Amino acid sequence: MAIQSLNPATNKVIKNFTPHSPDELENSLNRADLAFGSWRKTLFTERADLMRRAAQELKDNVNHYAEIITLEMGKPIRESKGEINKCALCCEFYAEHAETYLKDEDIHSDASVSYISYEPLGIILAVMPWNFPFWQVFRFAAPSLMAGNVGLLKHASNVPQCALAIEEVFRKAGFPEGVFTTALVESEAVETLIKDDRIKAVTLTGSEGAGASVAALAGSQIKKTVMELGGSDAFIVLADANLEETAEMAAKARMINTGQSCIAAKRFIIEEKIAPKFINRMKHYLQALKTGDTLDETTDYGPLARQDLAASVQKQVDESVAKGAKILLEGGRPDETSAYFHPMMLTDIQPGTPAHEEEIFGPVACIFVVKNAEEAIKVANESRYGLGASIWSCNVQEARKLARQIESGAVFINGIVQSHPALPFGGIKKSGYGRELSYVGIREFVNQKTVWVA
Ligand code: NDP
Repeated sequence: MAIQSLNPATNKVIKNFTPHSPDELENSLNRADLAFGSWRKTLFTERADLMRRAAQELKDNVNHYAEIITLEMGKPIRESKGEINKCALCCEFYAEHAETYLKDEDIHSDASVSYISYEPLGIILAVMPWNFPFWQVFRFAAPSLMAGNVGLLKHASNVPQCALAIEEVFRKAGFPEGVFTTALVESEAVETLIKDDRIKAVTLTGSEGAGASVAALAGSQIKKTVMELGGSDAFIVLADANLEETAEMAAKARMINTGQSCIAAKRFIIEEKIAPKFINRMKHYLQALKTGDTLDETTDYGPLARQDLAASVQKQVDESVAKGAKILLEGGRPDETSAYFHPMMLTDIQPGTPAHEEEIFGPVACIFVVKNAEEAIKVANESRYGLGASIWSCNVQEARKLARQIESGAVFINGIVQSHPALPFGGIKKSGYGRELSYVGIREFVNQKTVWVA
């Protein structure tokens, strides 16, 4: 894919970028490798100071960075600002906690003293997507850099300005050259990078296809990977849920980032007793959302990030409808050249159709009506994905029991699935493996070294 900044709201090219040449890439790798040699020896307090400055840089210039996101991938400005602030929070969180998370851990054994020491690995390659173009990167960079690793970013080809702006944040914060580098390269260059001995591990957030390809390459080089892939999260509404509040949350959960979030709720599994009323109210909340100028603070949803993404969501809907799905809320693309996609609701979704089997990365709510909680769990677990899920019920004790039966990396009860620096984030099944965030995430890319003393 060409490296190009294009505003999907207007279809206007903002800027074209020339990919880095093999020589430029080699220089970046050399600088990163050199930087690692000294960065790994810095104290946690020194790293924390810089990480706090990165947070400050983000907070001081939230409008500037948010505007880059909005213009480049179409996210409404209110959400872009929220994303920048969340990145600052993540930097502050790891500045505060990294040392504790990575301090030597005593282990009782046959030794006089034995412990685990957590040591950095070197250059970590991050292959990142466009949907949260800052957050996905900071979620990896804050813990990795605090652990003493250095980061090399290959960002999605449609968000080069975000990629360069993130490098600027770290540079302005005072991080030494090479500790965080953006490589403006197309996905074909990833193979060369993975095969380079200076790259020690790879983290990828993106589609199942990209994940499978990168994980296979890394596997052939015996390099560790963390894979954060797609999701088709279940949103289970039991008959005793607070109906009005839950319907409002359902609309919100589907519309996060105009539906382009791996943890957006995608399948709404409703107990039949309350289904007609719930569907009606959810529809009301979806219809109440406002689209328009992405730079307007009151805009709720914008275009999808690229025209081709809107086209593929429309194709998934059309195929599912042709094979029996019923439209409960009309929407979709206004015309064939638009990246916009108005919210839709589908039901009577047949097995074997895209709405049943695939992740729909856009504002389409798939409704499944079930007899009881047991059937809800069965339907929830039918998905090939296992990222997040939520259960909505006034009986929290019962909901906690059901949570254990759900095949996913996270279950939220009476709350929308979201990431938080303190909580592990990641999936099972085709949603990937490994965890980001919390103490679990920072330990993914370290040498967990055993030290044994006679
Ligand atoms: P991709 O998964 O293709 O892109 C994510 C990142 O991976 C980008 O940096 C991309 O680079 C890179 N990449 C893609 N293929 C390869 C490869 N074979 N080897 C190395 N790197 C690769 O996402 P798309 O933009 O194509 O979106 C398609 C679908 O992916 C969406 O509709 C959605 O279903 C899913 N997706 C899921 C995300 C999530 O958060 N789970 C995020 C984004 C997408 P480049 O841009 O240069 O191709």
